[in-house]
Amino acid sequence: MRKEIRSLGGEIRFGAKVTSLGYPENGTVKKVRVEYSDVIERGLGKEETERINRMARERVEIGSEDIGHSARDVYKMLHKEKIPLKPKPFAVGFRIEHPQSLINSLQYKEYSDQVVTGKKGTDLANGSKDIVEGVLPVASYRLATDLGYDGKINRPVYSFCMCPGGQIVPASTSEEETVVNGMSFSKRDSEFANSAVVVGVGEEGDEVLEEYWEKWGVLGGMYFQEDIERKSRELGGSNFTVPVQRLPNFLNSTLSPTLPKSSYRLPKKSSPLHTVYPPQITNSLKHAITEIFERQIPGYLDESALLHGVETRTSSPIRIPRDKETYLVEGFENFYVAGEGAGYAGGIVSASCDGIGVAEKVCANMGAEGFEGFGLGGKGVKENY
Ligand SMILES: Cc1cc2nc3c(=O)[nH]c(=O)nc-3n(C[C@H](O)[C@H](O)[C@H](O)COP(=O)(O)OP(=O)(O)OC[C@H]3O[C@@H](n4cnc5c(N)ncnc54)[C@H](O)[C@@H]3O)c2cc1C
Repeated sequence: MRKEIRSLGGEIRFGAKVTSLGYPENGTVKKVRVEYSDVIERGLGKEETERINRMARERVEIGSEDIGHSARDVYKMLHKEKIPLKPKPFAVGFRIEHPQSLINSLQYKEYSDQVVTGKKGTDLANGSKDIVEGVLPVASYRLATDLGYDGKINRPVYSFCMCPGGQIVPASTSEEETVVNGMSFSKRDSEFANSAVVVGVGEEGDEVLEEYWEKWGVLGGMYFQEDIERKSRELGGSNFTVPVQRLPNFLNSTLSPTLPKSSYRLPKKSSPLHTVYPPQITNSLKHAITEIFERQIPGYLDESALLHGVETRTSSPIRIPRDKETYLVEGFENFYVAGEGAGYAGGIVSASCDGIGVAEKVCANMGAEGFEGFGLGGKGVKENY
């Protein structure tokens, strides 16, 4: 892809950090300040890499922004520069992990011995290294309800980014915060099944965020996420030690005296995760798990299920409003935003589709013909992520 871009006259600039947009005037961003750190690009050789690094430092250009959902310094910078921002709903909760063999048996019942993991045709998730004749993929699940009762109102509660045969990984962006995420290797052959289990927050008037919006305005949701991640760090401690609690203990608000195995490779600490979130979030989770999810997959609420704290970055708490037709940031003539951080995606595929859609709009707005149709041109990309 890089070769193709370069052959068409484009440049790839690694190690380039946007630190300021200058002061936007009359709907035009006049300059972009970029700080460079030297990078070695694989396969280019030292001389070519040095030439590109030199060139990158000499030229600064206005571009589009695609900043992910964890770039909090970027939100602060955009807010300071008076770029329009809007709060948007997002979701927070935990990463839950079960033994994969349990999920296989809950989902496939008597056929669970037909599961094949890995490329060798073995059934590692069920603890077997023998070649099996099975035909079923490692089991996954999806749980969702709009009826997670928080004591006053119903909130959406759902599983997200389920990783069969996967691993829980640290996703913190600072030493002061503890955040986790999940992934599977292509073989999906670990002994564990993990998934985010999260509660919707941040709809207009949500009392959970009231004091944050009052104090921080549009950035309130971001500071709420940050507070939760700091609490998680306080409970776990240093070195990305993750606070954990067995699911039944979370539901009874008691500490777990013993812990089951977990795929998280760094230290774990038994902690009162039921104290991390405001009661509305904790109540909704408890209600959805006991009253709804356990009915949807009987056995989900198992002693071996372990909650890991915290999963807060399922999508961005902020959106940068853009014109529906041109995709330009509202009020600007030359400024585009795309992807998750801009508030128009949640996940790899939707972020990529949004990126293609924005690129097509940039071409169309510049009068270039023949570029529409490769991506979605904005169609199909949900307004709400
Ligand atoms: C461990 C893990 C597992 C995941 N697994 C999945 C999965 O299985 N499926 C799925 O759909 N999603 C998954 N996700 C989420 C997925 O990675 C994101 O939804 C997706 O990457 C968002 O794409 P994006 O292009 O909007 O942002 P990003 O991929 O975050 O890209 C933003 C880029 O902007 C750069 N940037 C930030 N600030 C600046 C700045 N000031 N100047 C210049 N550049 C800057 C960043 O370095 C980054 O390269 C996972 C995330 C994690 C952390």
